[in-house]
Amino acid sequence: MTPCSGWGRVNPRPVHTHVARDGQALAALAQLPHGLIARGLGRSYGDSAVADHVVAMQGLDWLQSWDPTTGVLACAAGLSLDALLAFVVPQGWFLPVTPGSRFVTVGGAVASDVHGKNHHLHGTLGQHVLALDMCLGNGERVTASPTAHADLFAATCGGMGLTGIIESVRLQLQPVASSQMQVTQHRAPHLEALLEAFAVHAHATYSVAWLDAWSPAPRLGRGVLMVGEHAATGPLQWRAPRTWTVPFDMPPALLGAPLLRAFNAWTYARARPGAGVQDLIPYFYPLDALAQWNRLYGRRGFYQYQFVVPPEGAAAVLRRVLQAIQEARVPPLLAVLKAFGPANAHPLSFPMAGYTLALDFAASEAALALMNTLDDWVHNAGGRVYLTKDARLSARHFRQGYPQWEAFEAVRAKYHAVGRFASHQSRRLGLA
Ligand SMILES: Cc1cc2nc3c(=O)[nH]c(=O)nc-3n(C[C@H](O)[C@H](O)[C@H](O)COP(=O)(O)OP(=O)(O)OC[C@H]3O[C@@H](n4cnc5c(N)ncnc54)[C@H](O)[C@@H]3O)c2cc1C
Repeated sequence: MTPCSGWGRVNPRPVHTHVARDGQALAALAQLPHGLIARGLGRSYGDSAVADHVVAMQGLDWLQSWDPTTGVLACAAGLSLDALLAFVVPQGWFLPVTPGSRFVTVGGAVASDVHGKNHHLHGTLGQHVLALDMCLGNGERVTASPTAHADLFAATCGGMGLTGIIESVRLQLQPVASSQMQVTQHRAPHLEALLEAFAVHAHATYSVAWLDAWSPAPRLGRGVLMVGEHAATGPLQWRAPRTWTVPFDMPPALLGAPLLRAFNAWTYARARPGAGVQDLIPYFYPLDALAQWNRLYGRRGFYQYQFVVPPEGAAAVLRRVLQAIQEARVPPLLAVLKAFGPANAHPLSFPMAGYTLALDFAASEAALALMNTLDDWVHNAGGRVYLTKDARLSARHFRQGYPQWEAFEAVRAKYHAVGRFASHQSRRLGLA
């Protein structure tokens, strides 16, 4: 057994890792009496891919079929988005929805029902999945889709590996004319102006804002909105840029309030309003340029707290959250704001209409206390916390935020998942 944690590196626990090379081996593992959880590239931040027994999916990484005329691709679930994109981008295709890291597996992305900067228009990745081949807890292998085993399909998209093991995924990609992006930046001097900028640019295909969570009123919540469109002309190439690696655990004091204040002021000042052209990789995956950036937070690791709140009252909740962060003197190194469109029918899918803020906090008692307070505000406002980023949510808040959890449990019982697929997270959240 070796110690294992999520990307945030808090609370590593001993894990026995099983390796499967094909569907039959997966089916055998799925029936082991002690139960297990699938693990992709471990980019979920907390303990959703951590259990006493995990099955490593990375080895199942092949392409199964590809139709360059329709953009329908099928692959084994352990294929990384990076490998998938390196194959399809030069042929003029891209993911319909992508998270902010390409070093995640296709199966892991479906299990988290990931969203991108285009959720307000295109929903989650699961909404573009045509079918999933799955391995159930009784060893049976089934195909689930929006029309076949539709309840299993919906529960699996966002189901955090708790309904069964995704063996392979059939996905509809989107055509692109170029591997470049047309990007425009808009500076907003405070939170209200930033939310207004989102509303004004609601028609843009991609939008995301960097937010200065450390500047006090009257600049509270100032930020830079970046909107993007696929360029209509230009090269079609997949060129991985040079990456740097954080060589060791940084001393946590390095990322204290003075440095963050200076960094945020510099980031805001250097954001030149206006348009430019950027390659796909730096636009969609800026953090991937720094390998092992999770070491920046030191040996104790960090938490990402990502929540969504409905549009009515969102400004008040966001303002209160930013004030609480500053009062508690718990500086987040990163704060990213996005606008969401409507929720889908997947019972544990995170997005719902409103605004989502993601905050990175170095692990500390003060950060934990702050997040416990924020949980109450978020859930009282009708919002919820993203499970793939979570390492500490309570069962009470989970049930409040995901009211369809009982329907989810019923699907798990129907498809033999109970007692077979569980993670440290699912146990903490009170799931069977
Ligand atoms: C820098 C960075 C940026 C990110 N940006 C975004 C973003 O913009 N939007 C967003 O939505 N997410 C984002 N994420 C989160 C990330 O996309 C998800 O956590 C994703 O699930 C990670 O995939 P993985 O292969 O690493 O899965 P893991 O972390 O290994 O597992 C995540 C979950 O998927 C389950 N799982 C994995 N493989 C399978 C399988 N084959 N069958 C069944 N279940 C499986 C696991 O059991 C676990 O519950 C980001 C993460 C990072 C590190």
